[in-house]
Amino acid sequence: MAENIIHLVLARTSDAPEGVKGISVFLVPKFNVKPDGNLSDRNDVTCLSIEKKLGVKGSPTAVLQFGEKDGAIGYLVGEENNGLQIMFEMMNHARFAVGIQGLSISERAFQQAVHYANDRVQGIPIDSQKGDPIIHHPDVLRMLSVMKSEIEAMRAFSIYGGFTMDMANHLDNSDIYWQERSSLLVPIIKGWLTERSLEITSQAIQIHGGMGFIEETGIAQHFRDARILPIYEGTTAIQANDLVFRKTIRDQGKSVRLLLNEIQVEMDTLSTEENSIVSKSAKTMINALSTTENVINHFLSTSNDQKRSAVSGVNYLMMLGYVCGGWMMVISGSKASEEISNSKNPSNFMKAKLVSADIYITHLLPKINSLAETIIQGDESVLAMKPEWLSN
Ligand SMILES: Cc1cc2nc3c(=O)[nH]c(=O)nc-3n(C[C@H](O)[C@H](O)[C@H](O)COP(=O)(O)OP(=O)(O)OC[C@H]3O[C@@H](n4cnc5c(N)ncnc54)[C@H](O)[C@@H]3O)c2cc1C
Repeated sequence: MAENIIHLVLARTSDAPEGVKGISVFLVPKFNVKPDGNLSDRNDVTCLSIEKKLGVKGSPTAVLQFGEKDGAIGYLVGEENNGLQIMFEMMNHARFAVGIQGLSISERAFQQAVHYANDRVQGIPIDSQKGDPIIHHPDVLRMLSVMKSEIEAMRAFSIYGGFTMDMANHLDNSDIYWQERSSLLVPIIKGWLTERSLEITSQAIQIHGGMGFIEETGIAQHFRDARILPIYEGTTAIQANDLVFRKTIRDQGKSVRLLLNEIQVEMDTLSTEENSIVSKSAKTMINALSTTENVINHFLSTSNDQKRSAVSGVNYLMMLGYVCGGWMMVISGSKASEEISNSKNPSNFMKAKLVSADIYITHLLPKINSLAETIIQGDESVLAMKPEWLSN
């Protein structure tokens, strides 16, 4: 579909140092380019096959072969052996962008589920009329409301994450505060938003009942498409390793505690607000922060055993995701409650926002308690399992 295709390829020069220190980035065109910019002969790069995939079928994933005949021509990008550094720069943005894919697909699945639930009639919902659609069944309302609440938290958190990246990239480079903050948040945004998109797109299928399993409705595609998100640009475990080892243990918990302290200051203020939903939610968040602090202490006190840290990394990442989501939702709830009290005719948007904050704190934030217990009590139990016993 295009005149030429360029591939960004990680490769080594013949005398490169061993390991990741010897990786360079090359730009490899499908057609070689003459000095005047016109295309010349075909470069030695061929597409061997297009993969058959579970989802994202609109995006072809190819097996490429380089240099099988005469050797492919590649143009060095940046400095030789600096490929890893370049890749990390690109990956930070790409990881954030994949997190946004998790948010977007969740929102799309949610919208479709709301539409279906407003249309489908099945049974007579409690306290409703014959012919009322399934959205009036309390359990369907629960699924949709919890999805909405979590998506709002994910969206607000990703906007904050984007803001920290802008601050880190566009302020004076000496501003280490924003660099540390954005680099702390990227693995959480990537990991939490994409893992949760699996559950949210699955719930969207559930709301469709049997029709959710039938291709005609199109809802199953979101579930399939979402499945790649916690895998590419580094699996959730790779994000968790980054978060635990580089961003928590290496600085002895400094950046993560700085974040938690800032949340604490905001929650202390909001816990005295007049609106009971806001003050109650802020108090619940204060307890959540103390639970998170216990988990950080656990990581730091067991950091001499890397296996223990690694085995709990994904649970820690998810826990921080839920906590940051709670932070966003309490602030959103407080802004909504302010708008509601200042308005004679408050909008449904604001009323829903306040309820959504309450739903987040009561249905999603409690998950951190089980995650914390698993991290503190359950790390050694997994490590007691011998890999060879799994094959018996
Ligand atoms: C559709 C699609 C598109 C892709 N697009 C691109 C692309 O454009 N560019 C590109 O460079 N790559 C691309 N990839 C590759 C993708 O980034 C990798 O598949 C992904 O990062 C996982 O690596 P892997 O497949 O080697 O899995 P593995 O690393 O083999 O992982 C297997 C399992 O082991 C775990 N594991 C591995 N190492 C560790 C560790 N150190 N700690 C804990 N657990 C670990 C993983 O979490 C996973 O559960 C694409 C892949 C797919 C499927």
